[in-house]
Amino acid sequence: MRITDIRATPVSVPLEAPLRHANGCHWGRFVRTIVEVETDEGLVGLGEMGGGGEIATAAFEAMKPYLLGHDPARIEEMRFLVANPTASLYNNRTQIVAALEFACLDLLGQKWGVPVSEILGGRLRDQVPFASYLFYRYPFPNDGAFEVRTIDQLVAEAHRLKKQHGFTSHKLKGGVFPQKYELECYRALADALPDDTLRFDPNGVWSVEQAIWFGQQIADLPNDYLEDPTFGLHGMRRVREKVQMPLATNTVVVNFEQLSANILNTAADVVLLDTTFWGGIRPCVKAAGVCETFQLGVAVHSSGELGIQLATMLHLGAVLPNLSFAADAHYHHLVDDVIQGGKFTYKDGAIAVPTGPGLGVTLNQDKLCEYHELYKRLGSYPYDQDPLRPGWTPLIPNDRWADPADERVPNVPI
Ligand SMILES: [Mg+2]
Repeated sequence: MRITDIRATPVSVPLEAPLRHANGCHWGRFVRTIVEVETDEGLVGLGEMGGGGEIATAAFEAMKPYLLGHDPARIEEMRFLVANPTASLYNNRTQIVAALEFACLDLLGQKWGVPVSEILGGRLRDQVPFASYLFYRYPFPNDGAFEVRTIDQLVAEAHRLKKQHGFTSHKLKGGVFPQKYELECYRALADALPDDTLRFDPNGVWSVEQAIWFGQQIADLPNDYLEDPTFGLHGMRRVREKVQMPLATNTVVVNFEQLSANILNTAADVVLLDTTFWGGIRPCVKAAGVCETFQLGVAVHSSGELGIQLATMLHLGAVLPNLSFAADAHYHHLVDDVIQGGKFTYKDGAIAVPTGPGLGVTLNQDKLCEYHELYKRLGSYPYDQDPLRPGWTPLIPNDRWADPADERVPNVPI
């Protein structure tokens, strides 16, 4: 089998509401790039990458001279061909090679008639459990629904998600409001969900001292872990000395160099593996193997996904013996998807691992078209800006918090 074409299509898929985070906001939609890799045997492999637009499309277009005529079975060679570690000092293509790896695995699974999980060593579980992923959210200007800002709104949203999807673990994305307010919110969740576990993620924006303070305030709660309370391996080590719960990261252990540093002098107890950040599903499986050897915990990270990327997360979660915690997904915030059959569904807080050949998902070309048109109409958005605070620059550590009493509604385009 040979690669004959590579197509990259940016899409915008609406969210229920704008998602607020420590560095800015998802302005009411996800912009993603859908990658289709065609072959001389008529099979088409699917990949997905975060962000999009002319730059992303051009980046995949630039891969054609490398990959037209390449055998998609030679995935490891492709890594060195387009993302050689030393050449990557000039052209960081980790996320591009990840999307292409998804597509190549999808092609091989289709050709061999097996799901990607079988290529990766075989399923150990048929469902992957997920945590609810709670964000502070702005309402849309048209209806004001789905706002999450007050404690009552947050608790109501957690109950709604639990009832609808069956989650028994809940993650709160913080780093938006002053620490004391977010502590109140987190403790209110614990009170409201006494049988469930919790995790908190301020995206590394606290100082070491603030991180230690928060960790000590929540030590009595059923925490899965505290995720990236501060930024940097050494800062995390200092927090870990004084906080009595596992620390997790998806920011400072995202490659094998950092993983080795974390093994030699532990900063994070749990490594959250992201199929995009690590350059594919296979690097995540390798990293999980290292973690298994050194008995570090592992979970599946979400960097925002449509159904293609979610499928990569499911196949990854299916094959890891040491999947110690429920996975994260932004997925339930989406109102639609670009795959045939519509969105994946949760049952009892878990999603079934696809069993069809390859990734087990097929593009809905009508949806691809519809959301490509939406992308063309709305364009990209600044992920690292807050629509209600123009010019705001989040520091690390940050002290420029949003005000939880601010009831204004941003005028984001719909
Ligand atoms: Mg995180």
